[in-house]
Amino acid sequence: MADIHGNLEAFQAVLEDVEKNGGVDGMLCAGDLVGYGPDPDLCLELARSRNFLAVAGNHDAAAVGKLDISDFNAEAADACRWTGRQLSQENRDYLSNLPSVLQVRDFTVVHGSPRQPFWEYLIAPVVAKENLKHFRTKYCVIGHSHIPLYFECVEGKGCSLKEFQFEGILKMGDNRMIINPGGVGQPRDGDPRAGYLIFDDENSTLRYYRVEYDIPATQQKMLTRGLSRYLAARLSYGL
Ligand code: ZN
Repeated sequence: MADIHGNLEAFQAVLEDVEKNGGVDGMLCAGDLVGYGPDPDLCLELARSRNFLAVAGNHDAAAVGKLDISDFNAEAADACRWTGRQLSQENRDYLSNLPSVLQVRDFTVVHGSPRQPFWEYLIAPVVAKENLKHFRTKYCVIGHSHIPLYFECVEGKGCSLKEFQFEGILKMGDNRMIINPGGVGQPRDGDPRAGYLIFDDENSTLRYYRVEYDIPATQQKMLTRGLSRYLAARLSYGL
C-alpha cells in the first residue's frame, strides 16, 4: 500500500478488507503515512502494531523536519506543520528512522521513484524506463502520485503503462515491473475508495482492491481540527 496520509478511517478499512480477503503475512508501505489527514499519530500507532515495513515519503520526512517544505504547496505545507505538532516522541522517532529505500525479497520499495525517492512522480513509461537501472530487484513498489498503475518493462525495449482491474488477478511473468498500488488515504484517480494490492508469493500474482470507508467522518475531523477545506473536499471525489 501507499499514501495513508493520516487517514485513519481509510487505513482501518483497508486493514479490515485485507483480513476479509484472506489476510497477509506482512505489509509494505511506499511512504506518506502522514500529511493531509487528521489522525497522523493514530495511523502511526496502528502501523507500528502490525507487521508493517515502510519507507519515508516526502510528507513523512517533512513532518519531522528532515525535508524542507518550501517546495510544498500552501495547503500541504500547512498540513505538514500541523502534522508535525501532533506527533508523539515515539512516532516522531519512528518517522525519523524510516529508510528512503527498502528491499524485501523481489521488491524494492520507494516513495517517488528509485532515482529520486522523495520527489519524482513516476507516471510515464519513459520515466519508468529511466528508473530501471536505479533498482536491482525484479519489482519496485512506488507511491507519491496516488494513482494505481503498473509498468511492465521488457529488457532492452521499454516500459508500458497498464491499469489494474478491480479485484482482478494479475499474473506476474518474467518482466520487471514498477507498481503503484494507489493511495489509501487520498486517492487521486477519480475513485474515492482506498486502494491497495495483495501479493501472493506462491502463485506470483497481484490482486487489486478498492474499499469504501467513512469519508464524511474523516472530513468532519479535518474541519474540526482546522485543516484545509479543499483537502477535505477532495476526498469525496478521489482527486
Ligand atoms: Zn502522498
